[in-house]
Amino acid sequence: MDSKDLANIIFPDAKDISYYEEKYPERNLKEGAVVTRFAPSPTGFVHIGGLYQSLVAKKLAEQTEGVFFVRIEDTDQKREVDNGVKEIIDALDDYGLSPDETVGTNGSDKGNYGPYIQSQRKEIYEAYAKYLIEKGMAYPCFCTPEELEQIRENQTKAKERTGYYGKWTKCRNMPIDMAIEKIKNGVSYIIRLKSPGNPDRKIKHKDVIKGNIEFPENDQDVIIIKSDGLPTYHFAHAVDDHLMRTNLVIRSDEWVASVPLHLQLFYCLGFKAPKYAHIAPIMKEENGNKRKLSKRKDPEAAVSYYKEEGIPKEAVEEYLMNIANSNFEGWRKGNKDKDIKEFKFEINKMGVSGALFDMTKLLDVSKGVISRYSGEEVLNYVLNWSEQYDKELYELLNRDKEYSLKIFNIERGNEKPRKDIAKWSDVKNSIIYMFDDEFEKIKEYEYQKITDPNEIKTITKEYVENYFDINDDKETWFNKMKDLAEKLGYAREVKEYKANPDNYKGHVGDISTVIRVTLTKRANTPDLYEIIKVLGEECVKSRLK
Ligand code: GLU
Repeated sequence: MDSKDLANIIFPDAKDISYYEEKYPERNLKEGAVVTRFAPSPTGFVHIGGLYQSLVAKKLAEQTEGVFFVRIEDTDQKREVDNGVKEIIDALDDYGLSPDETVGTNGSDKGNYGPYIQSQRKEIYEAYAKYLIEKGMAYPCFCTPEELEQIRENQTKAKERTGYYGKWTKCRNMPIDMAIEKIKNGVSYIIRLKSPGNPDRKIKHKDVIKGNIEFPENDQDVIIIKSDGLPTYHFAHAVDDHLMRTNLVIRSDEWVASVPLHLQLFYCLGFKAPKYAHIAPIMKEENGNKRKLSKRKDPEAAVSYYKEEGIPKEAVEEYLMNIANSNFEGWRKGNKDKDIKEFKFEINKMGVSGALFDMTKLLDVSKGVISRYSGEEVLNYVLNWSEQYDKELYELLNRDKEYSLKIFNIERGNEKPRKDIAKWSDVKNSIIYMFDDEFEKIKEYEYQKITDPNEIKTITKEYVENYFDINDDKETWFNKMKDLAEKLGYAREVKEYKANPDNYKGHVGDISTVIRVTLTKRANTPDLYEIIKVLGEECVKSRLK
């Protein structure tokens, strides 16, 4: 009996690997085209880091006329949840990061290099595992958990590295007849790689982001097929990225230490290795220390958070691009109206250490993004968002859509558009006073400098009776405000007041604040003149009275 017999007994039905090599040929793409992927596990949680990776991957594929695909890595079936796949695909679609090829959420795959979900690729892994066993580069290991524990104890006692390597590999040199006998007797086993590595030798590797790295060769006989018959991440990575013809693996840098093993697997399997780009994770600062954004501790680690808060996807995308390439910010300043697609992304300029996630900065970016939308766009976005997350607001805006549109047109579409909205969940609070019944409900508000009720009454009465005309243009309106100030003993201009504060009760700004607070119950609002125009004559008069 030889290794061929052993391979046949373990995988009697597996096809010859030439079948798959022909089925998934080299891709016919132009020189320099990047074939890359996002390979998440369907755990029911889409991490912002995954979106970040996908953004980078998709951008590179687009720029080089390559391919961006998604492969679902579900070989750890304990971690899987029901809707996991759909959540990932939907999140990518939401952010305009739809892959060129992917697993279909309703049965059929998109692309010719599938299946794009690992649990459906079992027979493929078997074919390649069989191939390695035939060549004497992999073998069945019958060690029980207790035996493995014993090995570990002995290693610790002897102060040696732990693991299944070198002289500790109990099953590596088991006679083939004996292994076959055990299999026939139903003894359970896993498949291990017979590592050709020697840790005294070094391999040099050039990571696209991290640059040159040197590692000792791998000498661990790692598991390639688990006892449930599914492959480990390492083995699946080599087989899949080879057959899917990936030429650049973009993944999180927690995998960088596995590079020696992965290069070895590619070598043993006779594959050309891809390039690797290991992305540093997004970090968070806590009590002066940096740590990874955590699924458990940080709500903003979940992609769903941004949707719920109503932060436009464009803002998230811009912000992530900011983190990815620090020159993006400068580009955006010089190209305010250009599509982000026109920015030339360079993966080798990504930071080697993790960028800090900065919510204030993201919201700032978001304010900029929203300020570029037309009133109509804002209305539509807010309607979409509120339909799902704030029914009250949704109904309010739908009462009279034309009126709602007027509200969102305030200070918009001009040279210096308003920049006060960072997310759709802010909107309600910033426009609520535009609706009479809601305005009535606002009980807490403060006049600023002028707080004497009699003075407030005088100002509002005087204004509504002698100075207010809904048809005034902006200049006339403002001049009348100054006339009113003068009449009541306030300076027409702030600087006049500052020069001689003792001559006045205050200045025109104090007067207009009284009008503003009376009309909106807010001390800070967008342009008061425009608000007055939208509220209309009747409403303004009744509020002032
Ligand atoms: N399933 C692995 C993960 O989620 C994929 C890593 C890779 O991109 O190769 O970490």
